[in-house]
Amino acid sequence: MTDPNTAEAELLASHVRPFGVRALNPEERPCAVCGVGVSSGELVEFDSQIVDRTRRIVLHEGTITFRTCPDCTERHRLADGLLWTQPAVQRQIGSPSIGVHRLSLALDVLAAVGQPLPTHLSAEGMRRAISVLSPVARRWSSRFAPVVEEGALRTSCADSPWEWIGADGLADLRRAAAEWLAWSLPPVDHVSPTGACGACGIGSISAPRPARPWVEYRLHPSMLGGSGPRVLVVNLCQPCQRAFDDPLPTGSPVQTALLAHVDPDGRLRGANMAGDLELLGVVGWAVTGRTKPNRQPWAHLNPAAVRRLLEGHGSNDDGLADLLGRLVGGSES
Ligand SMILES: [Zn+2]
Ligand SMILES: [Zn+2]
Repeated sequence: MTDPNTAEAELLASHVRPFGVRALNPEERPCAVCGVGVSSGELVEFDSQIVDRTRRIVLHEGTITFRTCPDCTERHRLADGLLWTQPAVQRQIGSPSIGVHRLSLALDVLAAVGQPLPTHLSAEGMRRAISVLSPVARRWSSRFAPVVEEGALRTSCADSPWEWIGADGLADLRRAAAEWLAWSLPPVDHVSPTGACGACGIGSISAPRPARPWVEYRLHPSMLGGSGPRVLVVNLCQPCQRAFDDPLPTGSPVQTALLAHVDPDGRLRGANMAGDLELLGVVGWAVTGRTKPNRQPWAHLNPAAVRRLLEGHGSNDDGLADLLGRLVGGSES
């Protein structure tokens, strides 16, 4: 096994000292998080290997020590405090220490791009911070453990916090921070890429900017109450997605979607009817030949009439399906 400094010298022989990095003073260790030199405080130790990637050999195997600077210590405490305000998120993650670690990574990203740190987070905001920000977080220690990155000097620390991430790296963090912030801005209209919801016919959905409320489905026309051999590419809104993913045992998915709209909790259909009811003549917007989206969901049929009919009948009405069949004619041209 080679001496670590010789190994490092060998590895770095062809490298120029990276931007934003300086040599450590003898008493200093780098902050494991942001990378600045820290002269006092607890040492944290990580396993670290120096590997020659070209020759695929381990040049040195050992440990490397860091400290944590006051700013990064404070941010970690903030993550801990915030997580305790959302016990549901904590339960979902399971381990409190993993939860704090993930949220702490999310806050690192905000700190690295100079974004003010949140003093409160909703459960949803916290989940998003963990899913959007944490995966892109970068820590100084990750350049050395478990394997020393090419160009990373064990005898160096950051000139100033985060600068070593470099312009491209910081641009990635900034994009993630902007996406996370966009979830808390006023919603915008997302227009269906295929004109409207293939089932209920609504043209746009109001949702936060980064949301992707439309989902593309490739459907046989019969699933939309239509005919013909050609598979249709449609987009469905979220309530219609649920109906198509989990249709009632009888009837087509499009019938399930209409019933879910006029009778969301299934109360009007009654316990016995839910499995029996079949609506005749129900078609999805995509098979009507229309090009303009509906102003209201299902306006190419007559959802109000379907609802009135359901309200006026008890369960197990034999004639109901036929009546419904005659009542689904459009309410909007
Ligand atoms: Zn730090
Ligand atoms: Zn829909």
